[in-house]
Amino acid sequence: MELMDCDRLLANRCRRRSFLWGAGFLAGLTITSQSRLVLAKSRFSGYPFSLGVASGDPLPDGVVIWTRLAPDPLNGGGMPLVNVPVRWQVAVDENMRRVVRRGTTLATPELAHSVHVDVRGLDPDRWYWYQFQVSNEVSPIGRTRTAPAFYDSIPQLNFAFVSCQDWQNGYYTAYRHLAEENLDFVVHLGDYIYEYGPESGGPRQHNSPEIITLADYRNRHALYKTDSNLQAAHAAFPWIVTWDDHEVENNYANLIPEENQSQQAFVTRRANAYQAYYEHMPLRLVSPPYGNNFQIYRRFSFGDLAQLNVLDTRQYRTDQPCDDGLKPRCSEALDANATMTGTEQERWLFDGLGRSRSRWNVIAQQTMLAQYNLNSSPDLGIFNMDQWDGYVAARNRLLSFFDQGQISNPVVISGDIHSSWVHDLKLDFDNPNSAAVGTEFVGTSISSDFPTQFIAAVQASLGNNPHTKFFDGAWRGYVRCNLTPERWQSDYRVVSSIVDLNASVTTLASFVVQNGQPGAYLT
Ligand code: FE
Ligand code: CA
Repeated sequence: MELMDCDRLLANRCRRRSFLWGAGFLAGLTITSQSRLVLAKSRFSGYPFSLGVASGDPLPDGVVIWTRLAPDPLNGGGMPLVNVPVRWQVAVDENMRRVVRRGTTLATPELAHSVHVDVRGLDPDRWYWYQFQVSNEVSPIGRTRTAPAFYDSIPQLNFAFVSCQDWQNGYYTAYRHLAEENLDFVVHLGDYIYEYGPESGGPRQHNSPEIITLADYRNRHALYKTDSNLQAAHAAFPWIVTWDDHEVENNYANLIPEENQSQQAFVTRRANAYQAYYEHMPLRLVSPPYGNNFQIYRRFSFGDLAQLNVLDTRQYRTDQPCDDGLKPRCSEALDANATMTGTEQERWLFDGLGRSRSRWNVIAQQTMLAQYNLNSSPDLGIFNMDQWDGYVAARNRLLSFFDQGQISNPVVISGDIHSSWVHDLKLDFDNPNSAAVGTEFVGTSISSDFPTQFIAAVQASLGNNPHTKFFDGAWRGYVRCNLTPERWQSDYRVVSSIVDLNASVTTLASFVVQNGQPGAYLT
C-alpha cells in the first residue's frame, strides 16, 4: 500500500491538520445507522484517506465533495463491512478556520465507503476549501470553486481539459503542472483508467489481470488514485468528468463488448465498471449507479460566458460500423440510424444548444468529431470507425444544427486519440470552400501512448485534410483554455517527459477563436 507521499504532493496542498470543529457540531455524531451497525471506534489498518479528496460538478450555489475511506486501497479498501460516519466541512479560507457548511454523512460498504456530499448554500464564483474527518483521522484539505451565477456577466473563464491516463505508459507529470495552473475547473474526457492486465515496457505496471468484477474495478480505480500528482490536481480544482471506453473496455459500444465475452457477461461487467466509476468520481447523482444504466451526460453554465454540454458517447451508441478499425467506409458508416449519443441525448443536446444564451457553447465529448482521412491519396478515404467518422449522418445532423440553429460559437473539446489536433468543423469536409460552422480542439493524453508509426501516417495525410490546422503526436499534456467574451485561446501544454517525475512544462502551440468567427488560427 502506498500512503500519501507528502514530498511529492505540492507542499501547500499536503496538510492534514486537525479540524477546528465548532461548538455544537458534536450533535452530528449521534447519527444512527440505516441498516447496519456503525463503526464505533477507529481501528483502521492504515490512513483512511489514502486516495485523497476531490470535488466536482460546480453550480452557482454548490459543489460535490468526494473522498473514499480506503486504509488498504489496493486490496478492496480494507474497511469493515459497516456504515461509517464521516464528518465534512467547507470553509472560505485555506486554514479551515471560517467554516460555512458542515455535516456528517455515512460511508457505506455498498458504495465502497465512498463519500459524495452535494454541498449547497454556497456563494457563486468563489473559492472554498473542504476537509473530511473519520474518527481521529483527517483528510488533506481540498480547494474548490463554485460557478458564477446564471447569466452573470463575467470577464473571463479558465479551465483545462485532459484525457487518457494509462498508468502503465507513464507518470502523471502533466498533473503536477496542471495543479499549479490558474484554473476555475478541469474537464476529464475519459480513459481515466485502463482495464488491461500488466504489461512490461513502461515505467510502472498494473497490479492485476484484466479487470472484470466490481472488486477488480474498485482496486484499479484505487491504484490510479494513489498517484500523488493526480491527487494534487483533484485537490486543486473542481473537476467535471465523463468517461470513454477504457473505464469499461476498449471500444465497447452500448452493451456490445469488444471481443471474447458473452453479451450477458458484458452486461454485468459494464454495470460493475459504471458503479466503480461513480464511487471514485466527484459526481452528482443524476440517476442511481446501480443496474445497467448510469446517466452521466449533463450541462453546466458559467455566467453568460459559457455553457458546457458534457456528453456520453459510449453508453447509447450503435456498434461501430465496418467492424471497427481504420478502413474505408462501408455503407453502415453512412446509416442515418447510426448514433454516438442515442436519440434521447441528441435531443437533449440540441434542445440545450437551441435555448442557450451563452457566448461560447462548448461540447465536451470523447472521440474526434472532425473528419480525418488517413490516406495520403484523396481518392480513397481511410477513416477511424470508432470516431465520428464512423457515424457520418449523426455528425452531419450536429454540424447542420450548429449552422441552422445559429448557435453562438460552438466549440468541441475531445480526447481519446492521445495526440493534439485543431480542426475547423465544416458542413462538407470534402469541400475546402465549405464554411466553418464550429471549432474543435482535441487534447493529447496525460500519459497514454501514441505510436510513432501513426505520427508519420497522419503527417503524410495532412495535405488531404485542409480543415486540420494542427497536429502533434509526440507530446503528452493537457489543453489550457482562456475564454473572454471576444476570444477563446487554447494553449497546448506539454511535458518534457512522462518517465521523469521532474519533467518541465511548455506551451507547444496556442490557437485562438474570435467571437463570431468559427475556426481557429495559430497565435
Ligand atoms: Fe485513451
Ligand atoms: Ca478511448
